[in-house]
Amino acid sequence: MKVLVTGGAGFIGSHFARARVAAGDTVTVLDRLTYAGNLANLEPVAGRHDFVHGDICDAGLLARLVPGHDLVVNFAAETHVDRSIDGAAEFVRTNVLGTQTLMQACLEAGVPRVVQVSTDEVYGTIDEGSWTEESPLLPRSPYAAAKAGGDLIAQAYAITHGLPVSITRCGNNYGPHQYPEKIIPLFVTNLLRGRKVPLYGDGGNVRDWIHVTDHCRAIDVVASRGEPGLVYNIAGTAELTNRELTKRILAALGAGWDMVEHVPDRKGHDRRYSLDDSRLRALGYRPEIGFDEGLAETIAWYVDNPAWWRAAVR
Ligand code: NAD
Repeated sequence: MKVLVTGGAGFIGSHFARARVAAGDTVTVLDRLTYAGNLANLEPVAGRHDFVHGDICDAGLLARLVPGHDLVVNFAAETHVDRSIDGAAEFVRTNVLGTQTLMQACLEAGVPRVVQVSTDEVYGTIDEGSWTEESPLLPRSPYAAAKAGGDLIAQAYAITHGLPVSITRCGNNYGPHQYPEKIIPLFVTNLLRGRKVPLYGDGGNVRDWIHVTDHCRAIDVVASRGEPGLVYNIAGTAELTNRELTKRILAALGAGWDMVEHVPDRKGHDRRYSLDDSRLRALGYRPEIGFDEGLAETIAWYVDNPAWWRAAVR
Protein backbone atom coordinates (compact mmCIF):
# COMPACT_ATOMS: atom_id res chain seq x y z
CA MET A 1 0.00 0.00 0.00
CA LYS A 2 1.18 3.55 -0.76
CA VAL A 3 0.79 5.74 2.33
CA LEU A 4 1.25 9.51 2.69
CA VAL A 5 2.06 10.56 6.25
CA THR A 6 1.85 14.32 6.77
CA GLY A 7 3.67 15.59 9.85
CA GLY A 8 5.65 12.35 9.74
CA ALA A 9 8.85 13.88 11.16
CA GLY A 10 7.08 14.69 14.44
CA PHE A 11 6.52 12.50 17.49
CA ILE A 12 3.47 10.39 16.59
CA GLY A 13 3.73 10.69 12.80
CA SER A 14 7.29 9.32 12.82
CA HIS A 15 6.20 6.31 14.91
CA PHE A 16 3.42 5.70 12.40
CA ALA A 17 5.72 6.12 9.39
CA ARG A 18 8.38 3.78 10.84
CA ALA A 19 5.74 1.14 11.63
CA ARG A 20 4.27 1.35 8.13
CA VAL A 21 7.70 1.01 6.50
CA ALA A 22 8.39 -1.99 8.74
CA ALA A 23 5.06 -3.49 7.65
CA GLY A 24 6.15 -3.27 4.02
CA ASP A 25 4.18 -0.22 2.87
CA THR A 26 5.57 2.36 0.48
CA VAL A 27 5.68 5.50 2.61
CA THR A 28 5.92 9.18 1.69
CA VAL A 29 6.45 11.64 4.53
CA LEU A 30 5.51 15.29 3.99
CA ASP A 31 6.71 17.59 6.75
CA ARG A 32 7.40 21.30 7.06
CA LEU A 33 10.10 20.61 9.68
CA THR A 34 8.99 23.17 12.23
CA TYR A 35 10.81 23.19 15.59
CA ALA A 36 8.89 19.96 16.36
CA GLY A 37 9.84 18.15 13.16
CA ASN A 38 13.08 16.17 13.38
CA LEU A 39 14.63 14.07 10.62
CA ALA A 40 16.45 12.06 13.28
CA ASN A 41 13.03 10.53 14.07
CA LEU A 42 13.08 8.96 10.59
CA GLU A 43 16.72 7.78 10.66
CA PRO A 44 15.77 4.15 11.37
CA VAL A 45 13.95 4.10 8.00
CA ALA A 46 16.37 6.34 6.08
CA GLY A 47 16.55 5.21 2.44
CA ARG A 48 13.37 3.18 2.86
CA HIS A 49 10.82 6.01 2.51
CA ASP A 50 10.39 9.19 0.45
CA PHE A 51 10.75 12.41 2.39
CA VAL A 52 9.27 15.67 1.06
CA HIS A 53 10.05 18.91 2.86
CA GLY A 54 6.88 20.97 2.48
CA ASP A 55 3.72 22.48 3.91
CA ILE A 56 0.19 21.03 4.00
CA CYS A 57 -1.04 24.57 3.21
CA ASP A 58 0.73 24.41 -0.20
CA ALA A 59 -2.07 23.39 -2.60
CA GLY A 60 0.27 23.23 -5.62
CA LEU A 61 2.64 20.83 -3.88
CA LEU A 62 -0.24 18.65 -2.66
CA ALA A 63 -1.73 18.49 -6.18
CA ARG A 64 1.54 16.91 -7.36
CA LEU A 65 2.19 14.75 -4.32
CA VAL A 66 -1.15 13.30 -3.18
CA PRO A 67 -2.29 11.41 -6.34
CA GLY A 68 -1.44 7.71 -6.31
CA HIS A 69 -1.58 7.26 -2.54
CA ASP A 70 -3.98 4.62 -1.16
CA LEU A 71 -4.06 6.15 2.31
CA VAL A 72 -3.36 9.66 3.61
CA VAL A 73 -2.96 10.18 7.37
CA ASN A 74 -2.75 13.76 8.58
CA PHE A 75 -0.59 14.25 11.68
CA ALA A 76 0.71 17.68 10.60
CA ALA A 77 -0.24 20.27 13.19
CA GLU A 78 0.93 22.84 15.66
CA THR A 79 0.46 20.88 18.88
CA HIS A 80 1.58 22.65 22.04
CA VAL A 81 -1.19 24.35 24.07
CA ASP A 82 1.21 26.79 25.78
CA ARG A 83 2.49 28.01 22.41
CA SER A 84 -1.11 28.48 21.21
CA ILE A 85 -1.75 30.74 24.20
CA ASP A 86 1.28 32.87 23.28
CA GLY A 87 0.28 33.07 19.59
CA ALA A 88 -2.61 31.32 17.85
CA ALA A 89 -2.10 32.34 14.19
CA GLU A 90 0.14 29.41 13.18
CA PHE A 91 -2.31 27.02 14.85
CA VAL A 92 -5.23 28.29 12.78
CA ARG A 93 -3.11 28.31 9.63
CA THR A 94 -1.85 24.72 9.85
CA ASN A 95 -4.60 22.99 11.86
CA VAL A 96 -7.56 24.55 10.01
CA LEU A 97 -6.39 25.89 6.62
CA GLY A 98 -3.81 23.12 6.24
CA THR A 99 -6.43 20.45 6.95
CA GLN A 100 -8.81 22.01 4.41
CA THR A 101 -6.07 22.23 1.78
CA LEU A 102 -5.16 18.58 2.34
CA MET A 103 -8.80 17.38 2.26
CA GLN A 104 -9.33 19.25 -1.02
CA ALA A 105 -6.20 17.66 -2.53
CA CYS A 106 -7.37 14.19 -1.38
CA LEU A 107 -10.79 14.83 -2.94
CA GLU A 108 -9.30 15.96 -6.27
CA ALA A 109 -6.90 12.99 -6.32
CA GLY A 110 -9.66 10.50 -5.44
CA VAL A 111 -7.71 9.10 -2.46
CA PRO A 112 -9.64 6.02 -1.29
CA ARG A 113 -8.93 6.42 2.46
CA VAL A 114 -8.04 9.40 4.63
CA VAL A 115 -7.55 9.70 8.40
CA GLN A 116 -7.56 13.05 10.18
CA VAL A 117 -5.68 12.65 13.47
CA SER A 118 -7.25 14.71 16.22
CA THR A 119 -7.38 15.04 19.97
CA ASP A 120 -9.68 14.63 22.98
CA GLU A 121 -9.01 18.31 23.72
CA VAL A 122 -11.69 19.32 21.16
CA TYR A 123 -14.34 18.18 23.70
CA GLY A 124 -13.14 20.67 26.35
CA THR A 125 -13.03 19.51 29.96
CA ILE A 126 -15.17 16.98 31.87
CA ASP A 127 -15.39 16.55 35.67
CA GLU A 128 -17.06 13.13 35.65
CA GLY A 129 -17.81 10.43 33.10
CA SER A 130 -16.36 10.16 29.60
CA TRP A 131 -17.02 11.72 26.20
CA THR A 132 -18.52 9.70 23.36
CA GLU A 133 -18.04 10.73 19.73
CA GLU A 134 -21.46 12.44 19.93
CA SER A 135 -20.42 14.75 22.78
CA PRO A 136 -20.41 18.44 21.81
CA LEU A 137 -17.18 20.11 20.73
CA LEU A 138 -16.37 22.72 23.38
CA PRO A 139 -12.65 23.50 22.87
CA ARG A 140 -11.15 25.91 25.38
CA SER A 141 -7.56 26.58 24.19
CA PRO A 142 -6.57 28.05 20.80
CA TYR A 143 -4.85 24.69 20.05
CA ALA A 144 -8.03 22.72 20.76
CA ALA A 145 -10.20 25.24 18.88
CA ALA A 146 -7.97 25.01 15.81
CA LYS A 147 -8.03 21.18 15.95
CA ALA A 148 -11.85 21.30 16.27
CA GLY A 149 -11.94 23.55 13.20
CA GLY A 150 -9.89 20.97 11.27
CA ASP A 151 -12.21 18.16 12.47
CA LEU A 152 -15.29 20.05 11.28
CA ILE A 153 -13.75 20.77 7.88
CA ALA A 154 -12.80 17.11 7.47
CA GLN A 155 -16.33 16.07 8.48
CA ALA A 156 -17.81 18.58 6.02
CA TYR A 157 -15.72 17.04 3.20
CA ALA A 158 -17.07 13.61 4.21
CA ILE A 159 -20.71 14.75 4.28
CA THR A 160 -20.72 17.19 1.35
CA HIS A 161 -18.32 15.48 -1.03
CA GLY A 162 -18.30 11.89 0.25
CA LEU A 163 -14.55 12.07 0.97
CA PRO A 164 -13.76 8.75 2.75
CA VAL A 165 -12.20 10.44 5.77
CA SER A 166 -12.45 9.27 9.39
CA ILE A 167 -11.41 11.40 12.34
CA THR A 168 -9.59 9.95 15.36
CA ARG A 169 -9.57 11.70 18.74
CA CYS A 170 -6.92 10.43 21.11
CA GLY A 171 -5.85 11.17 24.68
CA ASN A 172 -2.39 12.26 25.83
CA ASN A 173 0.41 10.33 24.11
CA TYR A 174 3.77 9.42 25.59
CA GLY A 175 6.77 7.49 24.33
CA PRO A 176 10.21 7.96 22.76
CA HIS A 177 10.87 10.87 20.35
CA GLN A 178 8.40 13.33 21.96
CA TYR A 179 9.65 16.91 21.83
CA PRO A 180 10.73 17.91 25.35
CA GLU A 181 8.14 20.65 25.84
CA LYS A 182 5.33 18.20 26.74
CA ILE A 183 5.12 17.17 30.39
CA ILE A 184 6.75 13.68 30.39
CA PRO A 185 9.85 14.43 28.25
CA LEU A 186 10.15 17.92 29.80
CA PHE A 187 10.18 16.56 33.35
CA VAL A 188 12.48 13.64 32.49
CA THR A 189 15.03 15.77 30.63
CA ASN A 190 14.93 18.49 33.30
CA LEU A 191 15.72 15.91 35.98
CA LEU A 192 18.47 14.37 33.84
CA ARG A 193 20.04 17.86 33.69
CA GLY A 194 19.65 18.38 37.47
CA ARG A 195 16.86 20.94 36.98
CA LYS A 196 13.54 21.26 38.79
CA VAL A 197 10.24 20.33 37.12
CA PRO A 198 7.53 23.02 36.78
CA LEU A 199 4.16 21.73 38.05
CA TYR A 200 1.15 23.84 37.05
CA GLY A 201 -1.32 25.00 39.74
CA ASP A 202 -2.36 22.37 42.29
CA GLY A 203 -1.25 19.51 40.02
CA GLY A 204 -4.80 18.11 40.11
CA ASN A 205 -5.41 18.17 36.33
CA VAL A 206 -6.23 14.68 35.07
CA ARG A 207 -4.97 13.28 31.75
CA ASP A 208 -5.68 9.94 30.06
CA TRP A 209 -2.30 8.50 28.96
CA ILE A 210 -1.72 6.25 25.96
CA HIS A 211 1.52 4.88 24.57
CA VAL A 212 2.25 6.21 21.09
CA THR A 213 2.48 2.65 19.72
CA ASP A 214 -1.09 1.91 20.80
CA HIS A 215 -2.26 5.18 19.23
CA CYS A 216 -0.65 4.22 15.91
CA ARG A 217 -2.20 0.74 16.06
CA ALA A 218 -5.60 2.32 16.64
CA ILE A 219 -5.14 4.53 13.56
CA ASP A 220 -4.27 1.40 11.53
CA VAL A 221 -7.51 -0.21 12.72
CA VAL A 222 -9.58 2.86 11.81
CA ALA A 223 -7.89 3.13 8.40
CA SER A 224 -8.53 -0.53 7.56
CA ARG A 225 -11.82 -1.34 9.32
CA GLY A 226 -13.34 2.00 10.35
CA GLU A 227 -16.32 3.56 8.63
CA PRO A 228 -15.57 6.59 6.45
CA GLY A 229 -17.24 9.72 7.79
CA LEU A 230 -17.21 8.49 11.41
CA VAL A 231 -15.26 9.79 14.39
CA TYR A 232 -13.35 7.32 16.61
CA ASN A 233 -12.23 8.08 20.16
CA ILE A 234 -8.94 6.46 21.22
CA ALA A 235 -8.76 6.20 25.01
CA GLY A 236 -5.64 5.67 27.09
CA THR A 237 -4.80 3.13 29.77
CA ALA A 238 -4.21 5.36 32.80
CA GLU A 239 -6.06 8.41 34.11
CA LEU A 240 -3.62 10.26 36.33
CA THR A 241 -3.36 13.67 37.93
CA ASN A 242 -0.25 15.60 36.94
CA ARG A 243 0.78 15.36 40.61
CA GLU A 244 0.62 11.54 40.52
CA LEU A 245 2.47 11.47 37.19
CA THR A 246 5.16 13.75 38.64
CA LYS A 247 5.60 11.43 41.65
CA ARG A 248 6.15 8.45 39.33
CA ILE A 249 8.72 10.27 37.19
CA LEU A 250 10.59 11.51 40.26
CA ALA A 251 10.64 7.99 41.74
CA ALA A 252 11.88 6.45 38.48
CA LEU A 253 14.81 8.87 38.39
CA GLY A 254 15.55 8.72 42.13
CA ALA A 255 14.56 12.34 42.78
CA GLY A 256 12.45 13.77 45.62
CA TRP A 257 9.55 16.25 45.76
CA ASP A 258 12.14 19.01 46.46
CA MET A 259 12.80 18.91 42.67
CA VAL A 260 9.26 20.22 42.00
CA GLU A 261 8.76 23.92 41.38
CA HIS A 262 5.12 24.96 41.75
CA VAL A 263 4.28 27.47 39.01
CA PRO A 264 1.07 29.47 38.36
CA ASP A 265 -1.57 27.49 36.52
CA ARG A 266 -1.83 27.56 32.72
CA LYS A 267 -4.52 30.01 31.53
CA GLY A 268 -7.82 28.19 30.91
CA HIS A 269 -6.24 24.89 32.00
CA ASP A 270 -8.62 21.99 31.23
CA ARG A 271 -9.23 19.99 34.41
CA ARG A 272 -9.89 16.51 33.12
CA TYR A 273 -10.09 14.58 29.83
CA SER A 274 -11.76 11.17 29.53
CA LEU A 275 -12.85 9.22 26.47
CA ASP A 276 -15.33 6.40 25.86
CA ASP A 277 -13.72 4.29 23.12
CA SER A 278 -16.42 1.59 22.75
CA ARG A 279 -16.88 2.37 19.04
CA LEU A 280 -13.20 1.64 18.36
CA ARG A 281 -13.17 -1.45 20.62
CA ALA A 282 -16.10 -2.83 18.59
CA LEU A 283 -13.62 -2.99 15.67
CA GLY A 284 -11.43 -5.34 17.74
CA TYR A 285 -8.87 -2.84 19.00
CA ARG A 286 -7.46 -2.92 22.56
CA PRO A 287 -4.53 -0.90 23.91
CA GLU A 288 -1.64 -3.25 24.73
CA ILE A 289 0.96 -1.25 26.65
CA GLY A 290 0.29 -0.73 30.35
CA PHE A 291 1.27 2.66 31.72
CA ASP A 292 3.89 1.47 34.24
CA GLU A 293 5.69 -0.60 31.62
CA GLY A 294 5.39 2.14 28.96
CA LEU A 295 6.59 4.90 31.27
CA ALA A 296 9.62 2.88 32.38
CA GLU A 297 10.55 2.15 28.76
CA THR A 298 10.03 5.81 27.79
CA ILE A 299 12.21 7.15 30.61
CA ALA A 300 14.90 4.59 29.72
CA TRP A 301 14.83 5.86 26.11
CA TYR A 302 15.50 9.47 27.20
CA VAL A 303 18.28 8.27 29.53
CA ASP A 304 19.85 6.32 26.64
CA ASN A 305 19.42 9.03 23.95
CA PRO A 306 20.79 12.31 25.33
CA ALA A 307 22.04 13.40 21.88
CA TRP A 308 18.44 13.36 20.56
CA TRP A 309 16.92 15.53 23.29
CA ARG A 310 19.96 17.75 23.94
CA ALA A 311 19.75 18.93 20.30
CA ALA A 312 16.09 19.87 20.87
CA VAL A 313 16.48 21.71 24.19
CA ARG A 314 19.64 23.65 23.40
P1 NAD B 1 4.48 17.12 16.90
O1 NAD B 1 4.38 18.56 17.28
O2 NAD B 1 5.51 16.27 17.52
O3 NAD B 1 4.67 16.98 15.31
C1 NAD B 1 3.96 17.76 14.39
C2 NAD B 1 4.65 17.61 13.06
O4 NAD B 1 3.92 18.36 12.07
C3 NAD B 1 6.08 18.16 13.05
O5 NAD B 1 6.96 17.24 12.42
C4 NAD B 1 5.97 19.45 12.25
O6 NAD B 1 7.17 19.78 11.56
C5 NAD B 1 4.85 19.09 11.29
N1 NAD B 1 4.13 20.28 10.76
C6 NAD B 1 3.69 21.36 11.44
N2 NAD B 1 3.10 22.23 10.61
C7 NAD B 1 3.15 21.67 9.36
C8 NAD B 1 2.69 22.08 8.09
N3 NAD B 1 2.04 23.24 7.93
N4 NAD B 1 2.90 21.26 7.04
C9 NAD B 1 3.56 20.07 7.18
N5 NAD B 1 4.03 19.65 8.38
C10 NAD B 1 3.82 20.43 9.46
O7 NAD B 1 3.01 16.54 17.16
P2 NAD B 1 2.52 15.11 17.67
O8 NAD B 1 2.48 15.12 19.14
O9 NAD B 1 3.26 14.08 16.95
O10 NAD B 1 1.01 15.14 17.16
C11 NAD B 1 0.66 14.68 15.86
C12 NAD B 1 -0.84 14.81 15.68
O11 NAD B 1 -1.53 14.07 16.70
C13 NAD B 1 -1.34 16.25 15.80
O12 NAD B 1 -2.34 16.46 14.82
C14 NAD B 1 -1.94 16.32 17.19
O13 NAD B 1 -2.98 17.26 17.25
C15 NAD B 1 -2.46 14.91 17.36
N6 NAD B 1 -2.52 14.45 18.75
C16 NAD B 1 -1.42 14.54 19.55
C17 NAD B 1 -1.52 14.06 20.87
C18 NAD B 1 -0.33 14.09 21.81
O14 NAD B 1 -0.46 13.78 22.98
N7 NAD B 1 0.87 14.44 21.34
C19 NAD B 1 -2.73 13.53 21.35
C20 NAD B 1 -3.82 13.44 20.48
C21 NAD B 1 -3.69 13.90 19.18
